[in-house]
Amino acid sequence: MGEKIMVNIKIIQGGREIGGNCIRIEDKDRILVFDQGIRFSIFRRFFTRNIEPLGIPELRELRIIPSEKVFEDIDSIYITHFHLDHLGLLQNLPVKTKIKVPSIRIFNLFEKWFRFSSSWLKYVPPRYSIQIDEVSLMKSDENNVMAIPVKHSVYPSYGYIYFGSDETIFYTGDFRLTSILDEQYDLKLYESTMIEYFEDNRDIRIDSLIVEGTNFGQITTPMDIRIIRTLIKNMLDEMIIIAVHPLEFELILLMIMELKKLGKNIVIACERLAEILDEYAKQLPEIQRELENTFILIDMVTKGVIFNSIDVSSIEDDPSRYAIIVDIKRIINYLRLFDIEKFSLGSPIIMLTSEPFE
Ligand SMILES: [Zn+2]
Repeated sequence: MGEKIMVNIKIIQGGREIGGNCIRIEDKDRILVFDQGIRFSIFRRFFTRNIEPLGIPELRELRIIPSEKVFEDIDSIYITHFHLDHLGLLQNLPVKTKIKVPSIRIFNLFEKWFRFSSSWLKYVPPRYSIQIDEVSLMKSDENNVMAIPVKHSVYPSYGYIYFGSDETIFYTGDFRLTSILDEQYDLKLYESTMIEYFEDNRDIRIDSLIVEGTNFGQITTPMDIRIIRTLIKNMLDEMIIIAVHPLEFELILLMIMELKKLGKNIVIACERLAEILDEYAKQLPEIQRELENTFILIDMVTKGVIFNSIDVSSIEDDPSRYAIIVDIKRIINYLRLFDIEKFSLGSPIIMLTSEPFE
């Protein structure tokens, strides 16, 4: 006679598609949801820059976000990282839902960025009745869920182990096996990841493994660090502009370190980027040291606790001394600030993204 199976895993979204993950796990006396992402593969079929979703109900109807039923009777939602194909639209959640996020401080930044957005991104922040907590790192929480760090372009990112009544489940979220940073920094950001955890805890038995396979293999863009170095070395006589997504923390850090080694002064010209780097610096002393001599561009950025400030005209006096890091989506705005006449021909722009973004 077979025993009654207690744990039931439902892959609601993300099964045969890239991102948009949502997994519901029903156990004896507990129901949990892992990620509740936006399915951009469907989103792109219906919407453009000019055609916006009419609201949460329409997005539900088109199955771009999970239906209300997915959240029925749940104890908590666990978010692996802040990409929108995993975090999703929190305004979709029923009142009093509990949600666990990788970092409250980074979450608060997100909340602020999107709360007053004039586009559909205003649905990202939750309603006020939602309870937000930080995940429990490397130890089991009240729902028997444990967060384990994984390497991904967004920092921090976690996978989750759920120690269920008759089954142990591991959900990786997005992850990559190799890092773009050199070992010295890699170790500071990730003292231990899921790889080391399972090597050190060989007695842990995982009954069900849910793997997000999107990020397997080599990093395709950007180029690897040797190519980036060669490129930059050929551009040292010019002001260099690096355009990145503000969430691409590893990539930004890598560029800052490389450009500093080559004698460039680093200028952060993006408010969101300045805010997020500030947060990381408060949490990680090594990052703070790395950012000590960087500047914010006061023509574009109003605050930044750890940065010195500089204005456009000072950069124009000797552009080749500077490397400017800007938000990839707003690059034209930055270029308009500068008087083109003062530059020699061909200030290079390096546009970097380690994965597609919405
Ligand atoms: Zn991701």
